[in-house]
Amino acid sequence: MPLPPCPICQKPVPPRPENTSQPFCSRRCRAVDLGRWLGEEYRVPDRQADEQEDEQPSDGSDRGHDA
Ligand SMILES: [Zn+2]
Repeated sequence: MPLPPCPICQKPVPPRPENTSQPFCSRRCRAVDLGRWLGEEYRVPDRQADEQEDEQPSDGSDRGHDA
């Protein structure tokens, strides 16, 4: 069974004994992934749509209409 490609660079991931950085192809790619998590750059496309649009107060008043 072939391993899935590296999520960072899409290269083939070497098998385990020689590669301790799975599921990444190298320690560098693992570090890149970690950096993305820390920078919150890593988006999970399914979940964030609902949670992000919660910031605007839905104030239905028509005040402040200064003509
Ligand atoms: Zn990689």
